[in-house]
Amino acid sequence: VESAVTDKIVDQDVQCPLCGYNLRGLSEARCPECGGKFDWPDLLDPTRKLHPYLFEHHPRRNIVSFIRTVIGGLLPRRFWRRLHPAQPSSPRRLVLYWLIVVALCFVLPIAEYTINVADVRNDMLMRRQQVLVSVGLAPSPPGSRVQLATQADLNEIKQEFGSYQKYVDRFWPMPTFPVLLQRTAFPLVEGSRYAGMAKGNFVLSFAVSLSLALLIWPWIAALVMMILRTTVRQASIRRSHLMRVAIYSGDAVLCLMLLELAPLFVTLIEHFNNRAWMSEIWGAVEFMRETFLYGPLIILLILSYRFATAIRTYLRLPHAIGVMLSVQIIFLLLVLQVMSWICA
Ligand SMILES: [Zn+2]
Repeated sequence: VESAVTDKIVDQDVQCPLCGYNLRGLSEARCPECGGKFDWPDLLDPTRKLHPYLFEHHPRRNIVSFIRTVIGGLLPRRFWRRLHPAQPSSPRRLVLYWLIVVALCFVLPIAEYTINVADVRNDMLMRRQQVLVSVGLAPSPPGSRVQLATQADLNEIKQEFGSYQKYVDRFWPMPTFPVLLQRTAFPLVEGSRYAGMAKGNFVLSFAVSLSLALLIWPWIAALVMMILRTTVRQASIRRSHLMRVAIYSGDAVLCLMLLELAPLFVTLIEHFNNRAWMSEIWGAVEFMRETFLYGPLIILLILSYRFATAIRTYLRLPHAIGVMLSVQIIFLLLVLQVMSWICA
C-alpha cells in the first residue's frame, strides 16, 4: 500500500489543501510552505472529499445537514478531525449557515416584540375609546364607568384644539403601524438602555453588547486572523479555511436561544407560584436572573475552546491557544470600545 501511494505522489500534482503549495514528490505529507501535516489518503482519495453531513456539502438536505452540523460541533475535537481542509469549501453556503444561526437567535425576541405590539395596540384602542366617550364623540355603553367631561372642560378643549376630534387624535391617536413601532419597546434594548446603561450598570450593558457582538464574531475573528497571519509563518492559508473555522466555531452563539428562554421560565414560575413553596422558588428565580447576565460570557468561553480546537486540529497551527487568545482579546477590546460609545 505504501509503495502504491508513493508512486501516485510521484506522478501527479497534489496541492496542499490549506495553501495550494504543490506537494508533488514529497515522501511525507507535510507542507513546507504552511506547515500543515496531512495523511496522503485524505488528499488523494476522492471518496474522502465529501463530508457525511456537513451543511456546506449537502444543499439538498438543508434542514438535516444544518441540525447535524450544529450537533456535530458540540464535540469540537471529533468535528474538526472529521472535517479536513481537502474537503472543498463553499463560501456561499458558509454565509448561509451563519445567516440561519443569526436568524434563529432573533426568533424569540421578534416573537416577544410582536406580542408587545399587540398589547400596546389593545391598550391604545381602549384608552382612545374611553376618551371618545368622555367628550361625547362615542356613545357611552351601558354600565360604563367612564367619567364624562364637564362643560367647562369641553369649552376649553374646543378653544385650544378647534374640535374634540383633534384633541383626541393629538393625545390618543389611532394605533397605526408607525405609531406602534414608535411606542413599543424592543425586548432587551429598552431595559438595558434605562436600567443598565443610563445608571452605569456595567454587567448588564456588557451582557447586551457582548450578545450582539457574538452574532458577528465569525467575521471579526476571520478578519483578525487575516491580519495576524501576515505576522506568523502560516501566511499562506486560504481565506475560505479561516471562514470555515470562524463560522462553525461561531455557531456556539445559538446558546443565546437558551438564554432568551430564561426570562420565559422566570415568568412561568412567577405565574404558577403558590405561597407554600414560593419562597424557595423565589431564590432560584433571583439566581437565574443574575446568572442570565453572565450567559454571554459563558458562551464566549465555550466559543474560545471550540475555536482553539479548530485552529489546532483543522488549521494545524502549532500555537493554537496563542492565536485564539490574540483574536479573543482583540474582540473583547472592540466590544468594550463599542460599549463606551453607546454609553457615552
Ligand atoms: Zn500548505
